[in-house]
Amino acid sequence: MSIRRILTFPEPFLRGTARPVENITGETAKWIEDMAQTMYAAPGIGLAAPQVGLDQRIIVLDVAPDDEEQGQEKGKHLIHVVNPVLVEADGETTFEEGCLSVIDFRAEVERAARVLVKGWDLDQNEIEIEADGLLAVALQHEIDHLDGTLFLDHLSRLKRQLYTQRRKKLVR
Ligand code: ZN
Repeated sequence: MSIRRILTFPEPFLRGTARPVENITGETAKWIEDMAQTMYAAPGIGLAAPQVGLDQRIIVLDVAPDDEEQGQEKGKHLIHVVNPVLVEADGETTFEEGCLSVIDFRAEVERAARVLVKGWDLDQNEIEIEADGLLAVALQHEIDHLDGTLFLDHLSRLKRQLYTQRRKKLVR
């Protein structure tokens, strides 16, 4: 297992559309382990493969990353989904979001309040995840990454430009 470098905005790779995983193999398992380790180390509650430079449709999430502090096994709530697809989305909710690829910036984003996501797990089982609250938001955020969308894209143009300009100055 190893911690991967997280690509950050405005890295062009983050804007690509990731390829579907065609075969779930030992390599897929290794990537998921690395992604989980990278997510916990950051720390974050979700990570999509393109964020670590991998052109594959894989996401990992853990919206209860403090399990260890609460005397539970770390990673108990780790979720991974290969080729996730958002099949249902209802209602509306607003959360303040951040992103491991968008440094030093958080903003309120409006998303569906309840989602149903279908995909595959490492054992090649088809899985369904129905979620609301933070997990629903995190699933939408991570699936967005697979199509090159960042939470910044859900903001007003003005807010997005303010961040983009600030970031450009920092990069320069
Ligand atoms: Zn993100």
